[in-house]
Amino acid sequence: THRCKLLVVGGGTGGCSIAARFARKLRPDDIIVVEPSKVHYYQPLFTLVGAGIKKFKESHRPQCSVLPKNIRWIQDQVVEFDPCNCVVHTCAGDKICYEYMVVAVGLENDYDKITGLKEALDDPKSGVSTIYSPHYCEKTWNNIKCFRGGHAVFTFPTTSGKCSGAAQKIMYLADDYWRRHKKRHLANITYATAGKAIFGVEKYATSLMRVADNRRIAVNYCLDLVELTKIGAVFVDDAGRTITLPYNLLHVTPPMSPPADLRRCTELVTDAGYLHVDPRSLQHQRFGNVFGVGDCLSTPNSKTAAAVSQQTAVVEKNLISVMQSKEPKAEYNGYGACPLLTSYSKGILAEFIYDKKPFETFPFDQSKERRLLYHIKTKVFPYIYWKRMITGKWDGPGKIRKIINPFGK
Ligand code: FAD
Repeated sequence: THRCKLLVVGGGTGGCSIAARFARKLRPDDIIVVEPSKVHYYQPLFTLVGAGIKKFKESHRPQCSVLPKNIRWIQDQVVEFDPCNCVVHTCAGDKICYEYMVVAVGLENDYDKITGLKEALDDPKSGVSTIYSPHYCEKTWNNIKCFRGGHAVFTFPTTSGKCSGAAQKIMYLADDYWRRHKKRHLANITYATAGKAIFGVEKYATSLMRVADNRRIAVNYCLDLVELTKIGAVFVDDAGRTITLPYNLLHVTPPMSPPADLRRCTELVTDAGYLHVDPRSLQHQRFGNVFGVGDCLSTPNSKTAAAVSQQTAVVEKNLISVMQSKEPKAEYNGYGACPLLTSYSKGILAEFIYDKKPFETFPFDQSKERRLLYHIKTKVFPYIYWKRMITGKWDGPGKIRKIINPFGK
């Protein structure tokens, strides 16, 4: 049996940042992080790996190098949460008792919800890949590079998982790559989304529709991928009809859900399986000593690392208050951001808060394609991630916004 003051479940973006923030506030050995993986991935880089802009090895570092020194890292997986007794059980049979817990277990890809998908992903010749996984993002680059023409289909599922924009970033990059290599005229590009709009925030949806139109990309709505067969990708539309699209290249954004270990604990989760927290304080709705950060939360924000940066700042403040028997007063405003690369030189930067309200950092219209964004995404964000975010020193761009865009244009 292990005992600790603060238990952090998950050592991804949110877990590392929380551990770092509290390692400065508590005695480091009061903190336990449970994380099964030996490697820590900077997942936003998978898009750039899929487009051949970055090497896969740049997307990950050893887990021990990203967790703060002196905290206790248990390389194991929580398989049972028992919040009534402030205990979790791990796969190896350990019992960990905590006073406070932060849950940051992220989302998993549900490949098995699409018949034939896993087999196709594992078949090197299938032309099927996804950037949403460290195992298949290099295959995406290979498929784009080796594409000889025909139908290129990019999908998006009914429930939006992490960084929903990445599903189309990789499509715009593929389009641009084929243009630059004089192959674009050989390709029919289709974006098949189960949603009713190309993007959740109207301002950016309008400019992305313009990008898709200009590039002659067909956008089809209300199409949910259910199966891969020899003939093609099988979708169901909102009237329940089956539609099969043939493909030579298929990029799949898989349905995602919180890990089953969390979903099984009905006291902690919503009906949909997400950690049930207050959308502003991020405190659990029932257990006052439990908070959450990141993709596994029930909050209606877009699931991005950008969101995690603000959430961890809020949880740091609120958990300290709770530890001092005070009211948690800090509020998360739903901030999320999505740097949408639209080519190998330009992109737009979507930033928004709850209720799909744009909330931009720069004093210019961020929905216009600009070169600056390409450099921010490929150079500045990786630096912020490794040096500031997972070290718990980045609260989001709020301070920068106050200086350069004080009137919130
Ligand atoms: P994660 O970082 O996924 O970490 C969850 C951790 O929990 C994992 O390490 C996992 O091993 C661990 N875990 C799971 N189950 C258990 C268990 N039972 N016990 C213990 N540990 C467990 N965000 C942006 O801001 N901008 C972008 O441009 C962007 N692009 C993206 C592109 C792609 C292709 C992908 C996949 C993601 C992108 N994101 C982007 C999203 C961003 O990576 C996530 O929002 C962020 O990593 C979420 O952090 P998290 O801590 O919630 O989850």
